[in-house]
Amino acid sequence: MKRRILAFIFYILGVIAVCIIATVSFISMKINPVLNGPGVTETVKLSNWFEGIKNTNMDTNVYVFDSGVEGGSILILGGTHANEPAGILSAIVMLENIKVETGKVFIIPYANNSAISHNDAMEGAPEFYHIDLPDGSTRDFRFGSRRTNPTDQWPDPTLYNHQSGSTLGGGEVSNLNRCYPGDPDGYPTEKLAYAIVQLIKNEKVDIVIDMHESSPEYPVNDAIVFHQNAAELAITAQMMLEMDNIQIRLEESPVNLRGLSHREIGDSTDAMVLLLEVANPSQGRLRGKTDEDLVVTGLDKFYVQAAKEGKLYAPYDENGYPISLRVARHITTIDYIIQSWNMMSEKQILIDDIPSYENLINDIGSFLIEHEG
Ligand SMILES: [Zn+2]
Repeated sequence: MKRRILAFIFYILGVIAVCIIATVSFISMKINPVLNGPGVTETVKLSNWFEGIKNTNMDTNVYVFDSGVEGGSILILGGTHANEPAGILSAIVMLENIKVETGKVFIIPYANNSAISHNDAMEGAPEFYHIDLPDGSTRDFRFGSRRTNPTDQWPDPTLYNHQSGSTLGGGEVSNLNRCYPGDPDGYPTEKLAYAIVQLIKNEKVDIVIDMHESSPEYPVNDAIVFHQNAAELAITAQMMLEMDNIQIRLEESPVNLRGLSHREIGDSTDAMVLLLEVANPSQGRLRGKTDEDLVVTGLDKFYVQAAKEGKLYAPYDENGYPISLRVARHITTIDYIIQSWNMMSEKQILIDDIPSYENLINDIGSFLIEHEG
């Protein structure tokens, strides 16, 4: 009898231990990691610009690089879609390396901080991936979802009636890149979009760049999508990229495609807005096993086959499309957009120590600070 009571007590203790471990790990996924770089002058919360997201999981860290020298300003967004890791990693690599000499830079690596706190289990997506550092250690990064975590926003409506008058599928109200220009009284994701727009308006941001990834079979990849006000920036940056033999498409933002950053932020603020896409097989429907390897190497035999059959919109072969290449493309495109801006504006934005395309491809790990988690 005593033995059974003892076994029961141990069983209950075991259940409690599992509950505590699960709770701690669940809550830790919701904590936005604080990052550091030598050029960061201030780390502030996005709720600084809109109190309505304060103390919620929609709030996120904004890394500010204020040179103290008057000039232009740029906002760089990663993680609008948290299942598109090259955008997040590009933002992190930039914030851990750059120094700003003139003007002001704002970097938000986890634009939808809620979307990084869960992943798409039904897509078989991994929870984490890691990058090797030169000293043999690794940096681990979460792989999230396209949409806001249902624990932060639920239920979504059957149809999403966007304020522009467009009707979208109900789930799109959890997609940050359908919620612009945002609504201070709307769904949490609409409040998040509103907060980002408030930052842009109040800080008089000149350029906004929103980084994404897309499937290689989708026509808009390896592309700069630009609001018509940013056409000159996009065209000049494309010419500079092509001089380096980096092919990139230009896509003008369609006027009727509502809710997206390049349309709505461009229409509702003075900023020039550009969205960057780079091809990534882990985003695509043709992919096989979706694991950390696929996320990091971008190598998938079904995509190799599709490329041979001429079905893809990205140059693709047995070398895959590694995350180092995807990040190199994003960061070099941003570099050239800023150089283009400096050619046409007196409000200069001068940045030192942007990692080069070749160095990123050769060893992206050497641009990451040793860091836990
Ligand atoms: Zn995206």
